[in-house]
Amino acid sequence: MREGDALTGSSESYDVVIVGGAIVGSSVAYALKAELGFEGRVAVVERDPTYARSATTLSAASIRQQFSTPENIRLSRASLAMIRNVKAVFGPEADIGFHEGGYLILASPEGLPVLEANHRVQRAESADIALLDPEGLAARFPWISTEGLAGGAFGVTGEGWFDAHSLLGLLRKAAREAGAVYLTGSVAGIDREGGRVVGVRLADGHRLACGALVNAAGPAAGDLAALAGVALPVEPRKRCVFVVHCRERLGPMPLVVDPSGVYVRPEGEFHICGVSPEEDARAAADDFEVDYPLFEEVVWPALATRVPAFEACKLIRAWAGHYDYNTLDQNAVIGAHPEVGNLYFANGFSGHGLQQAPAAGRALAELLTAGRFVSLDLSIFGYERIAAGRPVRELNVI
Ligand SMILES: Cc1cc2nc3c(=O)[nH]c(=O)nc-3n(C[C@H](O)[C@H](O)[C@H](O)COP(=O)(O)OP(=O)(O)OC[C@H]3O[C@@H](n4cnc5c(N)ncnc54)[C@H](O)[C@@H]3O)c2cc1C
Repeated sequence: MREGDALTGSSESYDVVIVGGAIVGSSVAYALKAELGFEGRVAVVERDPTYARSATTLSAASIRQQFSTPENIRLSRASLAMIRNVKAVFGPEADIGFHEGGYLILASPEGLPVLEANHRVQRAESADIALLDPEGLAARFPWISTEGLAGGAFGVTGEGWFDAHSLLGLLRKAAREAGAVYLTGSVAGIDREGGRVVGVRLADGHRLACGALVNAAGPAAGDLAALAGVALPVEPRKRCVFVVHCRERLGPMPLVVDPSGVYVRPEGEFHICGVSPEEDARAAADDFEVDYPLFEEVVWPALATRVPAFEACKLIRAWAGHYDYNTLDQNAVIGAHPEVGNLYFANGFSGHGLQQAPAAGRALAELLTAGRFVSLDLSIFGYERIAAGRPVRELNVI
């Protein structure tokens, strides 16, 4: 079974095999073949070409610049260059419905110093973020209750949301047109010879030899790394998204993040909202059941307090997806394994992988072809910190 080109024998050879064909895997393939003109053979192995349960498909599909780590801001800003300009990059028909509505991150008096410190970092990175006091918030967003708020940071430009599946479609198409081969298969084994990966074994018995292996398996990245005998602290964590209808028309609304952690943003005629649950254990790979009490007990009360119009909102539907959750520090792992030098990671993005994928894919493709980061220095996200247990301290985790 395959999505694209045929496997002709029981064993084939590729210079680069990428496991996982969703936003991260396809971004690496696209960057290798379409952006960098890599001439080697590239295969993307994906077990579910519908991507129905991938984090990419189930995400809230939003992009922000409001991080506290300069490298996270740079990753999102570099991806923004693609997200804003899909017609120039992929052709006049390309459309991902990017809505540059901004994020509004609200702070309590206790949270204000952190918001202000983050804002200084963001401004130094040229991010277009405005700091508002409660009066400024009330004037600009009259539907917000400013009770208990000391301020908010609003992304005037460069933040918003888009259609994730459309971006994935564009990247896959362009990667394939540039020569990447997409194969349907589930990687069930990884063969190593000493400090090198030499191939992968698929569940259907095929074997692919490879010069380099890229782990782009999203929430399953830790399991995939284990097949190579390598520890990677990335696991699935369930996140639920609730779609609500608010009778009152509120006018333009950014993605609002309440100090409680509850977020809400417009989605067509509805709004979507959610929160990271307090009890946050590893999810079973097949557990996509929605946690409705989370809406009733946590999300809705916080929402109705912050935006009183939501007191009368109606829950329309909901879904659950899996974060590709890095248990060390909820940040990406980008780079090669120090001892298995041809095993590359692009994993653990947690809640911000969609927006960082285009730039992260480019960075990984540079490592594969040039042996170093060229466009963005992302060494802070290397595997070495995982081995050393040294977290990257990002304060704006959503
Ligand atoms: C509810 C929710 C909301 C989110 N909101 C945002 C947001 O607003 N903004 C943002 O930037 N990010 C957001 N994220 C995070 C973002 O979706 C992820 O970080 C990103 O999609 C990860 O992409 P990926 O390609 O690595 O993983 P995935 O999209 O999960 O893709 C991994 C792929 O690997 C395949 N695979 C796994 N194992 C194997 C194997 N052994 N063999 C073959 N194939 C395999 C899977 O089938 C899958 O298609 C959200 C995530 C969730 C769940």
